[in-house]
Amino acid sequence: MQEQKIRVRFAPSPTGPLHIGGVRTALYNYLFAGKHNGDFILRIEDTDLARYIKGAESYIIEALKWCGITWNEGPGSGGNYEPYRQSERKEIYEKFISILLEKGHAYYAFDTPAEIEAMRNKIESENLGNPQYESVTRKFMCNSLTLSPAETEQRIKSGKPYVIRALIPGNEQVHFSDIIRGKLKVNTLTLDDKVLLKADGLPTYHLANVVDDHLMKISHVIRGEEWLPSTPLHVLLYRFFGWEKQMPEFAHLPLILKPDGKGKLSKRDGERLGFPVYPLMWKDPETGEVSNGYRESGYFPEAFVNTLTLLGWNPGTEQEMFSIDQLMQEFSLENVGKAGARFNPDKAKWFNHQYLLKKSSRDIAKEFIKIVRKKNHDVSYDKLTEIVALVKDRVNFVHEMWDQAFFFFEPPKTFNEKTLKKKWKEKTPEILDKVLEILSGIEPFNAPEISKVLNDFMQRYDVSAAILMTGLRICLVGDAKGPDIKEIMAILGREEVIKRIEFALKTIK
Ligand code: GLU
Repeated sequence: MQEQKIRVRFAPSPTGPLHIGGVRTALYNYLFAGKHNGDFILRIEDTDLARYIKGAESYIIEALKWCGITWNEGPGSGGNYEPYRQSERKEIYEKFISILLEKGHAYYAFDTPAEIEAMRNKIESENLGNPQYESVTRKFMCNSLTLSPAETEQRIKSGKPYVIRALIPGNEQVHFSDIIRGKLKVNTLTLDDKVLLKADGLPTYHLANVVDDHLMKISHVIRGEEWLPSTPLHVLLYRFFGWEKQMPEFAHLPLILKPDGKGKLSKRDGERLGFPVYPLMWKDPETGEVSNGYRESGYFPEAFVNTLTLLGWNPGTEQEMFSIDQLMQEFSLENVGKAGARFNPDKAKWFNHQYLLKKSSRDIAKEFIKIVRKKNHDVSYDKLTEIVALVKDRVNFVHEMWDQAFFFFEPPKTFNEKTLKKKWKEKTPEILDKVLEILSGIEPFNAPEISKVLNDFMQRYDVSAAILMTGLRICLVGDAKGPDIKEIMAILGREEVIKRIEFALKTIK
């Protein structure tokens, strides 16, 4: 028997920016497809006009591209199952809703929002259970099950607004299995007759999603846990259409939780705790409110992807660093847990640090040079590469490098008072005066040679490293901080070192 080709999809609704949970869903789909030589499809689920946000689709596409997630089929990329934007598939859904109506699995409902509200209030006030439109309540509402066929037809013809609802059978178990959660069952009494076609003639998510997954031959539905409650309805829809045999397998991914583990990670948590929850910066087109993004915060996409992958998936080993190619080899849905995954912003920074260390100093210099030039300095790549090599293990982000390296470009104008009080000793000026005398003899002026000469100096004059090195550091950096002082001296060059020591000796009283 020919095995079914693995085909998965990421199906975002363009209702706003993509949350990191959404990126993780896309990523897991992408990895799963890659691992099984399958297809990964991007489908835009844009049938909810009320929630449609301009710019969200292009944001989603840009975010996926930034992460290195690519798709085989999708809007603008073509494929055998076009179009991949649901708003362009209206006729398809009309055809399938007629099939459900004909088979008696769906019905017209004419109730106004006020009537539905009244029904809900009544059930709630009389404590009659879940206030839903379902097997019992539908009998008291205005729909094609309670009206005569002639009345129904007359209402439709007169242009009265209506929706089409799924006719959920009463008191039946719906069984389905989930790769992550195992076997599940739900009684249909807990489900309501969800709207499948809205008054504007467009399908709801449920209808469009199931029809498209079927038509696009999706083999696995990998999506967020929030869609688990909708799955029984989807399973019923597959059954109504007679598609049970081709029903995709389901895998519902765990939630991403706040850093303290208490509830789902929200946009507000990010603002409150100072980390982004979106891959890219997002400007709300209505309010103008700007939310920060991982890209703009200086994260490398590889680090971001690595962080996200480990939020829910566990490789079964201690390994933490994975390239996207390795992930594609290793990833499996069986190793995705059910329990919510706590988001740890410090771990995200740690990953960025690791990737920064892995990159060549020259590559980082290409980024860092932009910052240096913004500060109105110029420097050769070779020199900047040396500087980067010296400070990169002290930072998590390229933009943090300036604070660690500014003194290579700007001589200190002032000196840290506190440091001076503690570390600028009475003997320091005299020692530095002597150092000035020997600097001209160091040949070549590089770190090993400087080190040798300074060591001899300390021995000869019985000077401690604490006094000499700290004194030099104060002169060159303005404070008792920074990387190896010999390296700093070598990069600054003899002339500059002399200038700075002389200035410090003149200035520090
Ligand atoms: N359009 C849904 C969303 O925005 C897709 C859910 C699914 O993958 O079935 O998340």
